[in-house]
Amino acid sequence: MSHDIRTPMNAIIGFTSLAATHVDNKEQVLDYLKKISTSSQHLLSLINDVLDMSRIESGKVKIEEKTVHLPDLVHDVRSIIQPNISSKRLSLFIDTMDVVDEDIITDPLRLNQVLLNILSNAIKFTPTGGMVSIRIAQKPGAPKGCGNYEFRIKDNGIGINKEFQKHIFEEFTREESSTVSGIQGTGLGLSITKNIVDLMGGTIALESEPGKGSEFIVNLCFPLSGQKVEIKQLPQLEGLRALVADDDTNTCLSVSTMLSKIGMRPEWTISGKEAVIRTKYAVEQGDAFSVYIIDWLIPDMNGIEIVRQIRKVIGDSCPIIILTAYDWADIEEEARAAGVTAFCEKPLFLSELRKVLAEPFRVQPAQTPAPQPKADFSGKRLLLVEDNALNREIAVEILKEAGFLVDTAEDGVEAVEKMEHSAPGQYDLILMDIQMPRMDGYEAARRIRALPDPRKAGIPIFAMTANAFEEDRQNALNAGMNGHIAKPLDIPHLMKVLEEALQ
Ligand code: ADP
Repeated sequence: MSHDIRTPMNAIIGFTSLAATHVDNKEQVLDYLKKISTSSQHLLSLINDVLDMSRIESGKVKIEEKTVHLPDLVHDVRSIIQPNISSKRLSLFIDTMDVVDEDIITDPLRLNQVLLNILSNAIKFTPTGGMVSIRIAQKPGAPKGCGNYEFRIKDNGIGINKEFQKHIFEEFTREESSTVSGIQGTGLGLSITKNIVDLMGGTIALESEPGKGSEFIVNLCFPLSGQKVEIKQLPQLEGLRALVADDDTNTCLSVSTMLSKIGMRPEWTISGKEAVIRTKYAVEQGDAFSVYIIDWLIPDMNGIEIVRQIRKVIGDSCPIIILTAYDWADIEEEARAAGVTAFCEKPLFLSELRKVLAEPFRVQPAQTPAPQPKADFSGKRLLLVEDNALNREIAVEILKEAGFLVDTAEDGVEAVEKMEHSAPGQYDLILMDIQMPRMDGYEAARRIRALPDPRKAGIPIFAMTANAFEEDRQNALNAGMNGHIAKPLDIPHLMKVLEEALQ
């Protein structure tokens, strides 16, 4: 453990002094700064993991109970991992099977953490060009009012040997192959994951073979919230044929099952060329398909080409829906021009399929979203309350760069005084550190909220703190603050929060 912390710390100290010695050589300094940044990120994730682990071990972690719309959580997870998947040119397969209850009660942050921990390993330990798959299935046999869910995350990466598999959920264990190959890690991710799964009353299992890949299987039982997705059939589609084309047979089966549930007669193929041939044949036979659901990336023919050729045969008559695990903003215009009716994110859930099919079908012209204007904070006045001089300096620089006029206070007492003596509307927003001498941020926020002038009392206040746990966020809200920003500051996130608060 001490070694794990010292290694990145040594790198930070070492490269900092090297940068100081070569301060006139811009390129070299930039290179050192890049190395310092990488080591700090690693140290930060190690610290976060150690803190998380010690909170779990001391029984401080409580599993929250919130209503969660499973499709939202899964789509979020997919978009978080997408950049890493793309940069390693991995193929991502993602689908659902028999998920009829989409609204569950769980702790979304912790469920996210479990899935992301396993997925980030799958990505890390799979060489460029490999494959990662995520399959989510609802299984029978859950007690009344609950649903059993199975999450399978599989990769075809380096695999894990039998002996190490026995210890994989222990703290600070890393297989030699991963340390030797220089892949970053702390050896804590999976023990945290196992602990959270235990706290949620679930199970986690592993199947793996060195050189072939690994599969982690998490089973969790969640109480259900709300109602089942309506299995009611869509009368306008009742008995009509649908064609599914996707090179992943699991997706074909899963989407076909959903189409049957809403009353259609689905057929599927794993080849783009075959999809076109079947379309022609169906038209010739007088029993044409009424809905097409097509994967964007089928190896034998690209999605645009499949859609163009199908449109040549069927004209504008029925919807062609594209399924994709990737962001479609870049291809949307071309795809719409080729005749695509709508896009659906993978994995497809039943409620999403119903929604897209229930919409009246028309060929839409391409819509290009208006470019988002970049936030301009010039002239906005901000009070930054922070006791640590270094943190204050960093935050002031970041905020000034964004155009803010920044005033500072060194603790809660000074912040409250500045607000008392300010003209109403003098400040537009307060960023408030929490742990400070004399008066902490919670107390300062409470006192500001109690000021007699309504403009001063109602000023947006955001906690800015290194305590990044759910209860810290809750405490900030309870003290009357508008939100919570974790330190170290993630600049794009900070700007987004400020933009939303000040618009
Ligand atoms: P970390 O990834 O930070 O090293 P973890 O606890 O998440 O820590 O994983 C522990 C070890 O288990 C990894 O270092 C690696 O040796 C092995 N491991 C985990 N997941 C995989 C995977 N999908 N493929 C190969 N090895 C894995």
